[in-house]
Amino acid sequence: MHYGIDVGGTKTEIAIYDPTWQCLDRWREPTPADDGEALLALLAGMVRKADRRHGGRGSLGLGFPGVIDEHGRLVAANLPGLRSFVLETALAAHLDRDFIIENDSRCFVVSETGPGGAAEGVMHAFGAILGTGAGGGALVDGRLLKGAGRFAGEWGHLPLPATAARRYDLPLLPCGCGLEACLEGYIAGPGLVRLHRHFGGRSTSAEQWHQAWLAGEGAARRARECHLALLGDALANVVKLLSPRVIIIGGGLSAMDDLVAALPAAMAEHLFPGVEVPDVVRSRLGDASGVRGAAMLGAGITTTA
Ligand SMILES: [Zn+2]
Repeated sequence: MHYGIDVGGTKTEIAIYDPTWQCLDRWREPTPADDGEALLALLAGMVRKADRRHGGRGSLGLGFPGVIDEHGRLVAANLPGLRSFVLETALAAHLDRDFIIENDSRCFVVSETGPGGAAEGVMHAFGAILGTGAGGGALVDGRLLKGAGRFAGEWGHLPLPATAARRYDLPLLPCGCGLEACLEGYIAGPGLVRLHRHFGGRSTSAEQWHQAWLAGEGAARRARECHLALLGDALANVVKLLSPRVIIIGGGLSAMDDLVAALPAAMAEHLFPGVEVPDVVRSRLGDASGVRGAAMLGAGITTTA
């Protein structure tokens, strides 16, 4: 058996898979985000409970929101309780087996290129999550790209392109990472709402923006044009650096089929002749991708580079 755990800012999920990646069981618990010790105890308890329920001892992979740096510390995550911990060491003290920890966006690309995923068997892929934030992970030659400092794939913290900032008169917003005008603040779900309001709209959720856009509202159309220009530029930068065959879109915004379908043309505007625009597909495993990718990494079926 293989266990995957996806630690979220509010909920933590465990899923148990058989060797063919059929899900045998899954459940969620509230995340004690402010209390690191309680969170570590919760994770250990979930693993013990999985062992008891299934009469075995599964391999283990854990996905966390935020980057885990080369020292095993969690950086820029929405889990204040873990801020003072060296995550790898603290988990080793609580868990009774070997485990792999990874950023949840990287777990996503592992899952979507694995059995039953949207890009099954693809060796060069980029997973782009557009939800409350903009996370990413790259598979290069079949291996998950981490890099020396383990920051590889953080496309959401590339800067806003100056041309678009000028054309749309965009404000330079502070980002949670400490930098200014990171793309995440404009292209993820809350960013799309921000763009709509910037152009005079009144939505409070990406879904409300989408309804306004479908209804042909002017501010919503301007926001869409700006959003696509930013996303096309950002993903074209990913293509220039990593040359993926497929880009898989996940997170809440991936539910908008029209957005996913518009991305290849938006990217093509920022690529030079002769560069093939990769296929852009929507996540097939949806919310389950993070937990499944963590389990796959824990099982050792995808290695890292
Ligand atoms: Zn940032």
